[in-house]
Amino acid sequence: MGCIFCKIVEKEQKADIVYEDDKIIAFKNIRPLAPVHLLVIPKKHIESVKEISGEDIDLIGHLWVKMKDIAKENDLKGYKVAVNVGKEGGQEIFHLHYHLLGGWKSKKDRDIPNMP
Ligand code: AMP
Ligand code: ZN
Repeated sequence: MGCIFCKIVEKEQKADIVYEDDKIIAFKNIRPLAPVHLLVIPKKHIESVKEISGEDIDLIGHLWVKMKDIAKENDLKGYKVAVNVGKEGGQEIFHLHYHLLGGWKSKKDRDIPNMP
């Protein structure tokens, strides 16, 4: 299928994985836009927010609960969660992913002008 994030899930593509369970995986972004920049993804291939369906409600709920735990484990007191939706929304990889960004030392650093 050629989806790079599916390849990370299948361990066919190397990634710096910080959390994994049967439903989701979280790994470091290769081009970080913040001191901590993780990508949290469902293992199931869902193209984008637009393709989330009713049968994914438990999965997406699970992802949000775990994302909060992952943030805590990475010493993030506060953080941003960003999701690019569709080509027009700046999405480049069409496997649903949540950008988890944080670790800034100052308010100035917290602005992310180059968020795609
Ligand atoms: P988006 O624009 O929301 O689709 O973001 C895709 C993100 O995936 C970008 O921030 C990339 O830096 C990141 N990315 C692409 N390939 C990899 C990879 N192999 N491992 C980790 N992060 C990646
Ligand atoms: Zn995929």
